[in-house]
Amino acid sequence: MADSIEFVPAEYSSRTQPESTAWEILRCDPRGIDTLVAAGLPFEYRSGMRHFDVNDLYNLGMYSGRSNTQPELAFRMLFRFAGRSVDDLLHEKRWDFRVQLECVGCEGVAPWRFEAPDVVRFGGRVAGVVAPRASEGTAGYEATVTTAGARTPLVSAELRRLTRDYLEAGYRWQMIPVAMQADYQLVHALGVTSCIAASLSLAERFRAAGYRAEAKRGWFCGVLGGALDLPHACVEVEDDDGVIKTVDIAKAQLAARLSPNTGDFRELCVGSIYNKVIPSTASGNASFATHECGSRLPVHVRADIRSVR
Ligand SMILES: [Zn+2]
Repeated sequence: MADSIEFVPAEYSSRTQPESTAWEILRCDPRGIDTLVAAGLPFEYRSGMRHFDVNDLYNLGMYSGRSNTQPELAFRMLFRFAGRSVDDLLHEKRWDFRVQLECVGCEGVAPWRFEAPDVVRFGGRVAGVVAPRASEGTAGYEATVTTAGARTPLVSAELRRLTRDYLEAGYRWQMIPVAMQADYQLVHALGVTSCIAASLSLAERFRAAGYRAEAKRGWFCGVLGGALDLPHACVEVEDDDGVIKTVDIAKAQLAARLSPNTGDFRELCVGSIYNKVIPSTASGNASFATHECGSRLPVHVRADIRSVR
């Protein structure tokens, strides 16, 4: 399984997961890990134990073809919705939206800047906002977010062609660290892609064709219990009819890989709005939060988004 994926290059890699986590994710024993290491799985010794990058472990599982690894089970569960009627994705949906911010290298009390949910432009609402106040170390954001859906497929033949060309180019979807995704040329040069990298690249192709387009980050909801922290991004583009459309290229690609009967969902990804995504004000290669304490380390952002019934 090791020669089927691209490992995260050392400069973007964070080898912090102990071997016991690798056994769990890959449902294998120490001998299985020895085989992967012999085949090139990068590791580092920490306190005498081998440690691995979580993205490498996830990608190995996802493309193992064994069907019992954690990532295979998680992705199949996560994308079950994509094979159902897309009508369920078009009605209003309410979410209890909570985000924890942690400034790991914090240097004192300071204001926070948080890229909040930005759903009003797409027919949604935000209520009960509790925004982070100046503090040291940690803070939170809470709101009740209502998302909507709308069938607004791309009408421009040129935009549709560029989207199709990208989908047919054969980039392999992998979990990739967010910082590496910003280096989207490197990602694509390796023959792989991921949500943010794909959106940055497609936005650039749309702009080169004369369209106003920007990659934007957001949250992909319905990720059970935070088991899978899947960064979300899509492209916002002004179509020939003057309407801002969203192209969720990586979800279309993932759905195609994970399930055969997802044609309607994949079409929805090419221009329309669906209720499982909460767009934010963050641009494609920006972080969701910063703390103005002077620390240069990135703020950790952990979202807990639950459906309100
Ligand atoms: Zn700080």
